[in-house]
Amino acid sequence: MSRISRVFTELGLVELNREFALHPTQMVFPLSAKAGTLLGWAQQQGLWEPLSLWSLVRLLADCASPSLEGGRSTNLSISWFDAEIGEVVRARPDGCDLCRPLLLGALTTFRARPVVSSLTEALKWRGCDCGSLADEAALRARGEGDFRKRLVGIARRWEADQASAAGRTTLPIL
Ligand SMILES: [Zn+2]
Repeated sequence: MSRISRVFTELGLVELNREFALHPTQMVFPLSAKAGTLLGWAQQQGLWEPLSLWSLVRLLADCASPSLEGGRSTNLSISWFDAEIGEVVRARPDGCDLCRPLLLGALTTFRARPVVSSLTEALKWRGCDCGSLADEAALRARGEGDFRKRLVGIARRWEADQASAAGRTTLPIL
């Protein structure tokens, strides 16, 4: 397991895969900041940002099988990586104008064919700094301690923020 994947494991993302290992399809959902939700509020407060699409690509490259034949994770699938910014979604997993088309293309290909080679072109990309910046951000997040504890702390602050209570929706909390 690579250093980056260990970070994601510590962030609780890969663990979901293990918990649902008996399910036929294992899904990875990168989260967006949605209006009226906990993460939407946290993003507004500067307490949380959606992961970079580069982090999703790195995670999938580490978890996916090299081929569709007899691989260990050919049932891996993804969604929510291309949410449209609007009244509900305020910030999403993203790249820059240069790498976004490449990343969305690679992830769409991966969704149809969940093998490492679907990500090869993206993994070779050197046209911007987004990939290395995402790696640095993931390592920094590791240094900030347990993700779940931090999330509970953010949720307590959100509950205590009466000013935002009226704008909360009945959407799922995240
Ligand atoms: Zn970029």
